[in-house]
Amino acid sequence: MVDDTDSPAIQSRENLANIQTRIDEAATRSGRAAQNVTLVAVSKTMEASRIEPVIAAGQRVFGENRIQEAEGKWPGLSEMADDIKLHLIGPLQTNKVRVALELFDVIETVDRPKLARRIANIMEETGFRPDLYIQVNTGEEPQKAGILPADCDAFIKECRDELKLPIIGLMCIPPMEEEASLHFSLLRKIAQRNGLENLSMGMSADFEVAIEFGATHVRVGTAIFGARQSFVQ
Ligand SMILES: *Cc1c(COP(=O)(O)O)cnc(C)c1O
Repeated sequence: MVDDTDSPAIQSRENLANIQTRIDEAATRSGRAAQNVTLVAVSKTMEASRIEPVIAAGQRVFGENRIQEAEGKWPGLSEMADDIKLHLIGPLQTNKVRVALELFDVIETVDRPKLARRIANIMEETGFRPDLYIQVNTGEEPQKAGILPADCDAFIKECRDELKLPIIGLMCIPPMEEEASLHFSLLRKIAQRNGLENLSMGMSADFEVAIEFGATHVRVGTAIFGARQSFVQ
């Protein structure tokens, strides 16, 4: 028999089971129900053949950060199961809104007023209404996308009340070099005072901390699929 225990497919299935166990344990430690934490498997840069075994193992929620890449891979992959949910977790250009609304079940990166207005227009025109998250630049990093914490309340209000957008939560990507928990607790605070239920926060390195701070969605890539070939966001 060929020893294929090192194959990427087997490795990613094992990783998936391991991450799910760690999610369950982190939830239990925090007095939360594990079913209230959704694992978003970040499959960006991974070829379809690497994603298939993870779908076959039961994973249903995936994150991609590039429209074009997702457009190429997911129409085919989605045929493997009828309950797959695709999240956009990368930047969205206004000229890609139309295709994004059709392709994704959730867009986590509403990060500026112009984009919010464009989404509202295309939603009205097409009837495609994926759930939306607002991306918050909790670290106030100039190079990073997202609404500044001080502008969040007004922007959330504009999105919900004026544009009638289906905003259901907030997402953040904390600065690499800072204590992530400070950013997670800030995101939770902004969500709570605005009555938003969902928090997308925590990645491979810190998803357990994020769960402790109330994450409802953790976005985990390398810990499932292994290292990416090139650095992407
Ligand atoms: C790539 C990416 C992730 C996953 O990061 P890992 O460290 O591989 O788990 C999560 N969120 C966003 C927005 C990403 O771009």
